[in-house]
Amino acid sequence: TGAAAASDAARAERAAVLAEAPTVVRVSGLSKTYGGQTVLADLALDVAVGEVVALLGPSGSGKSTLLRCISHLEDWDAGHIVVDGQRLGYQAGGERMSPADLARERARVGVGMVFQQFNLFAHLSALENIAGPLRWVHGWTAERAEQRARELLARVGLSHRADALPRHLSGGQQQRVAIARAIAPGPRVLLMDEPTSALDPALVNEVLEVIRSLAQDGGLALVISTHQLHFAADVADRVVFLAGGRIVESGPAREVLTRPQHPQTARFLNVMA
Ligand code: ADP
Ligand code: MG
Repeated sequence: TGAAAASDAARAERAAVLAEAPTVVRVSGLSKTYGGQTVLADLALDVAVGEVVALLGPSGSGKSTLLRCISHLEDWDAGHIVVDGQRLGYQAGGERMSPADLARERARVGVGMVFQQFNLFAHLSALENIAGPLRWVHGWTAERAEQRARELLARVGLSHRADALPRHLSGGQQQRVAIARAIAPGPRVLLMDEPTSALDPALVNEVLEVIRSLAQDGGLALVISTHQLHFAADVADRVVFLAGGRIVESGPAREVLTRPQHPQTARFLNVMA
């Protein structure tokens, strides 16, 4: 149909732009073990500016750990993670940074993170969940922080809930606040760890729509672990399939999802479909 042809053309144009785009996240040789168990094994992943990557894989395959390493919430054993040209997490002398230094560094370099369980500050309003960190972590003035927070609440369709506490918001609304909070300081990369899997099915779409609009805006790279295969096929430029801490398959989203090359990917897609 015309619409499908138009979207194929848009897809091809996006792919051409991304092929020329600089790398914003470079993961190389990343390895991590927990008590002798290998969780990430010599993993390499490059993400281009503005690229949308869907991270698929069975439970326990290492998706959360990978995202937590990229966002420097977690340490790793070997390998490098470079975000926006900067190798994070180490002092000039080569030793690891303290957690407090890491938090500041993370803010400076610009990795946003959205969690499955929203992780909003329970005692703060929707507005303050966004404006607060802009003041405390990023040093914005109160006025500028509030203005930015209101702008982002409007963007996720929650201007009318600015003063509500998280417990008075639905799960979908809470996750939209969490997304607004994560993008407020203007990160180059937004990592989302199963952003809809804690939601009632009826609330999934409102969150997917917000993510879709971020993806279409461009400029911001998104790495999303998800079990929403239709969403991945629709919105992701690339699918990366993880199993046992390794990338088993990676490629253009529609190709991997419709014609997986690796038996493990095919099995997973069969089970999920
Ligand atoms: P996924 O997000 O794909 O489900 P995870 O990254 O959460 O996978 O987990 C990968 C593996 O690491 C699993 O085997 C899990 O049990 C293990 N793991 C994750 N976090 C910890 C932890 N804090 N301590 C010990 N093992 C962990
Ligand atoms: Mg996980």
